[in-house]
Amino acid sequence: MTAVSGAIHLKSGREKPVENGHPWIFSGAVRRVENDPGPGDLVDVYANDESWLALAYFNPHSQIRARVLSRDPDDTVDEAWWRNRLRQAISLRQMLELEPETTAYRLVNAEADRVPGLVVDRYEDYLVVQALTMGIERQKPMLVRLLNELLNPAGIVERSDVDVRKKEGLEQTSGLLSGQGPPADLLVLENNLAFNVDLLHGHKTGLYLDQRENRALLGQKRFVEHKEVLNVFSYTGGFALYVAAGGAQHIVNVDSSTEILQQARENVQRRFAEREQDEYVAADAFQQLRHYRDTGRQFDVVILDPPKFAHSKRDVHSATRGYKDLNWLAFRLLRPGGLLATFSCSGLVSADLFQKVVFSAVIDAGRDAQIIHYLSQAADHPVLLTFPESAYLKGFLLRVL
Ligand code: SAH
Repeated sequence: MTAVSGAIHLKSGREKPVENGHPWIFSGAVRRVENDPGPGDLVDVYANDESWLALAYFNPHSQIRARVLSRDPDDTVDEAWWRNRLRQAISLRQMLELEPETTAYRLVNAEADRVPGLVVDRYEDYLVVQALTMGIERQKPMLVRLLNELLNPAGIVERSDVDVRKKEGLEQTSGLLSGQGPPADLLVLENNLAFNVDLLHGHKTGLYLDQRENRALLGQKRFVEHKEVLNVFSYTGGFALYVAAGGAQHIVNVDSSTEILQQARENVQRRFAEREQDEYVAADAFQQLRHYRDTGRQFDVVILDPPKFAHSKRDVHSATRGYKDLNWLAFRLLRPGGLLATFSCSGLVSADLFQKVVFSAVIDAGRDAQIIHYLSQAADHPVLLTFPESAYLKGFLLRVL
């Protein structure tokens, strides 16, 4: 993608977001497309007055018609340019000094690392790549070459089996891109806690890496030692392993998937073989919380980390009802002085809206609560100031009164 093969001209008054560093150019902002660029081609972006604004990659099949790569008129988007952007992303993670305690983390966070559409996660010696857009799909062979050159991994796996590809006119795909395939028993470390990850079949790229810092916070003795913890939406035991390490007396994990709960049990018991008391409950979270409410069961700590509820603007209303229901139930199950760690990873539900939802849940539960920590995604999932959409994970640690 060295050569610029066309241009797009923006409507009057629609230049501001581009000038302000926002990477997305929606179809409605485009006045004219010049030279019939193909899906994923590089284009120049011009303002209504014909002044040059940016270089972007184009996709006629996506509502996001173009994604900005550079606003520097001296830039050529060639291999050296991509290498440089990858290097910048990698250097942030080096600064964070995650290794050796942590060997699973995000190396490239797409738009937020100014590489729109590309996610790269590291799991020990393996890389997992997600190509979320046509522009990145077209560059995949070169990107794989650059990742091998810069990081020399044992293997690179692709996990582009995500819904958003459809919006770009792309099929879902996954498999080995280069090197050797990861072993089924691959163990990675998060703050020296070991997790088995299935890079080819697990959720996301294997783990929900964005929750690492929140797991570390919750896992502290002062919050969980000798406590009864309800870990809802447990997945493979992310929070469970941390709160076990923090000395929790009893952990109840709830997830809809039996297979995933088995992995959670293995992750916890690999380190804490003697933990026979914990429960692994395969159930719908909403039903299981209602069951605990009806039977008068109480907990000291509740963790609510549900999957994304709002996938489009249409979903926001029903998503907020789901969040409210969950949080309302959690407030009913907590002993006085108990802690609730509650999250939303729906980008379309703002932190402000989420706080209002939790507020109405506490009122309806007839309780009161204090926010003691505002929570968000880990530092290896940075938020680009000019792209506020990259701040998707929000949460609170609350003390219930
Ligand atoms: N807290 C986890 C990540 C949670 S991901 C961690 O830190 O690793 C969300 C999980 O919710 C998935 O494992 C999924 O299987 C589960 N899930 C989705 N819908 C559910 C439902 N209705 N009831 C229970 N679990 C559900």
